[in-house]
Amino acid sequence: MHYFQYKGGELYAEDVPVREIVSRFGSPVYIYSYQTLLRHLKAYHEAFDGFPHIVCFALKANSNTAIVRLLAQNGGGADVVSGGELFRALKAGVPPKRIVYAGVGKTGEEIRYALKSRILMFNVESADELREMDRIAGEMKVKAPIALRINPDIDPQTHPYISTGLKKHKFGIPIEDALEHYQLARKLGNISVIGIHKHIGSQLTKVSPFVDALKRILRLVDELAEQGISINYLDIGGGLGITYNDETPPPPAQLAGSILPLLEGRNFTIIMEPGRSIVGNAGILVTKALYLKKGEEKEFVIVDAGMNDLIRPSIYGAYHHIRPVVKNRRRTIVADIVGPICESGDFLAKDREIPAVRAGEYLAVMSAGAYGFTMASNYNSRPRVAEVMVKGKEYSLVRKRETYSDLVRGESIPDFL
Ligand SMILES: *Cc1c(COP(=O)(O)O)cnc(C)c1O
Repeated sequence: MHYFQYKGGELYAEDVPVREIVSRFGSPVYIYSYQTLLRHLKAYHEAFDGFPHIVCFALKANSNTAIVRLLAQNGGGADVVSGGELFRALKAGVPPKRIVYAGVGKTGEEIRYALKSRILMFNVESADELREMDRIAGEMKVKAPIALRINPDIDPQTHPYISTGLKKHKFGIPIEDALEHYQLARKLGNISVIGIHKHIGSQLTKVSPFVDALKRILRLVDELAEQGISINYLDIGGGLGITYNDETPPPPAQLAGSILPLLEGRNFTIIMEPGRSIVGNAGILVTKALYLKKGEEKEFVIVDAGMNDLIRPSIYGAYHHIRPVVKNRRRTIVADIVGPICESGDFLAKDREIPAVRAGEYLAVMSAGAYGFTMASNYNSRPRVAEVMVKGKEYSLVRKRETYSDLVRGESIPDFL
């Protein structure tokens, strides 16, 4: 059951016509489905049912507080990578004991904020960070609960820009150096070692890289046990892929089915950090066709959403289905769907077959819930778009469209001008 469906030739978000939302809140607009978000979170809970676990939603995929609140209300936690994301998670009501904090460059200020908030644990990515955390925790007279992020050197077989678990990447501690780092962590008086963490990449469409990485991690856990270092939290990271076009990624149940047998007899709480697989297919971006242009070699549909609103096609060459909000029976055209930004890289789709579009009509960019709004910018001084959440027949603005004055908020003209 998909919650973005055609009824009578019109695209609906749950029980609301997309057209109604656009006419109320304007274009472009992100629309999120409550039921889809809930179903995706539940799929993880059900898959790992019977094994202690926490589903820490990766806020970087979509940090709108309404979405984070929905997930928190249903047992979800948060994986944050900045003080700003921690602020959002707490504001949305995520219990601190369901928050984990990763990232290679946590500042002293961010570490203090997270310690004060009493989060579950930090996923630490270097020896330097470990020492800095020890120093700060000492000053605050608290103990910093940590896992070390281990880089297992596994190729996740995904796009190079979203792959993170190979030796050449900046993330984590190389697995060969892990033991030494754990020994250092144990020696530091204000550090409390409780976990182990890995995250090998995003948009993974096979379980084998998860399994291979986990096997390496478990071997390390056994070595640590021999040294008297015990692990309570096993954080397997995020990264399950979604269907954008014709990919067939494993659902959470299949992931659980492959990895739970490896964990038999171990007393871990499993932490997972899904982002894309929770929110990716729970959101669409609706945009209006402004102009049609027939170049000598190409046809262009120029729309009012640009790379500043959804950058994935521009930076990853990502594919998103593009569907008419109201179906038509016109001939099919092959066109580039492009935005208004002054960059050749500003496109939502290239050489795409779609039913002919007319100016003024709306198009839905599907699977836009993850790494959509969170990567949006004000480039070309374009106000960021509105976000709306739908639940059944109800819907509500969850972030209002920015205005021109928002664009210059905080700027000032110096006296010498
Ligand atoms: C990005 C990220 C995630 C989420 O990845 P998805 O592919 O969106 O599931 C989880 N953990 C860490 C540490 C990340 O950097």
